[in-house]
Amino acid sequence: MSQEGFDRLKAECINTGLCVECGACELVCPTRAIKLKKYDWGRNPELEGKCVDEECDLCHKVCPAHKVPLSEIETKFFGRTRRHPFPGVSPEVSDPTGSEGKGGIVRAVYTGYAVNKNIHENAVSGGVASAILIHALESGMLDGAVLAGFDPETPYEAKAFVATTREEVLACAGSKYQPHPQLLGLREAMEKGLQKLAITSTPCNAIAVRKLMLYDEFREIGSRIKLVISNICGAHWSRHGTEWLITNCLNTKLEDVAALKYRARPFPGEFQVKLKNGKTAEAPFVLNLLGQLARFTPEECRYCLEKVASVADIVVGDTWHHPVLSPDLLGKYNDEDVKKDERIACARKGATAIVVRSEAGQHFVDAAINAAAVKLYQDTPEDARKFLDAVHDLGKPVCNGPVINARIRRGGPVREYY
Ligand SMILES: Cc1cc2nc3c(=O)[nH]c(=O)nc-3n(C[C@H](O)[C@H](O)[C@H](O)COP(=O)(O)OP(=O)(O)OC[C@H]3O[C@@H](n4cnc5c(N)ncnc54)[C@H](O)[C@@H]3O)c2cc1C
Ligand code: SF4
Ligand code: SF4
Ligand code: SF4
Repeated sequence: MSQEGFDRLKAECINTGLCVECGACELVCPTRAIKLKKYDWGRNPELEGKCVDEECDLCHKVCPAHKVPLSEIETKFFGRTRRHPFPGVSPEVSDPTGSEGKGGIVRAVYTGYAVNKNIHENAVSGGVASAILIHALESGMLDGAVLAGFDPETPYEAKAFVATTREEVLACAGSKYQPHPQLLGLREAMEKGLQKLAITSTPCNAIAVRKLMLYDEFREIGSRIKLVISNICGAHWSRHGTEWLITNCLNTKLEDVAALKYRARPFPGEFQVKLKNGKTAEAPFVLNLLGQLARFTPEECRYCLEKVASVADIVVGDTWHHPVLSPDLLGKYNDEDVKKDERIACARKGATAIVVRSEAGQHFVDAAINAAAVKLYQDTPEDARKFLDAVHDLGKPVCNGPVINARIRRGGPVREYY
């Protein structure tokens, strides 16, 4: 038995605090020896079975925590590498189109919403992610989508779900702000025989998805993935943070929870728990409890500079930092402003910011636009650049940059892009 691959995974990715709990190692292990074991602080990949006899490095190779072959990923999926290295800006490289080192390779930036009211109402921002997925499933562009819902047994714990219908996509709409092994949903999709898959994922999880699509060893899974949708990512927050909000801020017992929404309407969202007795408990999320949840930011997110998912086909987020539609600007516009720019009224009800990186992503977005499944407004190049630069500059380099620098100085590993 050779467990050198797992030993490498443990030494470089798990015991270093870089593991993002994506489940990719468990997914690819040929003997199913790895299990993400649950603790009250999160999940830890552990060797519970036996490795294969011959040499094996699959779990280590797929892991997104430490090594990111960004140039290879960009070349294969976006047709070229970015003009600046990630992260930051190299003065030696000229970049006539703007600071690509910050935003990565971008084809287009939009803001908009799902035209169907039911989809929009169920989502957190504009429902564009759900609308694109529903349109792609119903038009045959996809036959399945790995999304995130809640575990029916413990309905405050995020879990991967495979959706093949409009109803299943709607049941998974909305952000699940906690880590969970999202890539294990791909195993279920394979078992169902699905061939044309989308997956939604955090930016770090998307790196593992791209490795599945890049390396020949993972062809059986990777060749089925046609669309990677990621979220703009502040962080995911430990499951016990969510449990703490439910028990301490809503004074509700976990065993009484029937359903959870982090951001129920109205926009920007209420943390809402439906109880088994039919009652509802809720409190403002974005404007209140999110600050509490931030106290539960896990270690891996402190070493992370991924914000606008550098490797996804499509990235979806709120319009924070948008030069016109940032939620903190929306209340300041007068009736005249609203008449002149129809995006403002839309954004007040919840809009999605959409960053398209790849030709494949553009294909799915265009199809949804043409079918009137989504109403999208394309940003001017200036607004797109202002938005992407602000999301980058005001985000992780400020709070995580010093943490990463300290770790490097003290000899600890960080995620490496090459
Ligand atoms: C952990 C996390 C952190 C985020 N941080 C930011 C931020 O800092 N700034 C910002 O602007 N936006 C952030 N977002 C994105 C934002 O919350 C919305 O997801 C985004 O605006 C898309 O909105 P929508 O209405 O189009 O999506 P919807 O139509 O609601 O669809 C979202 C889709 O994503 C899937 N999904 C939800 N959570 C997860 C998850 N954890 N893993 C995999 N799939 C998931 C759902 O199943 C659904 O299919 C974050 C999202 C997540 C999950
Ligand atoms: S993928 Fe599985 S068999 Fe291969 S090294 Fe890792 S744990 Fe062992
Ligand atoms: S980041 Fe994902 S692949 Fe890497 S060790 Fe953690 S769960 Fe496994
Ligand atoms: S902050 Fe980074 S490590 Fe944390 S969930 Fe987001 S992309 Fe992953």
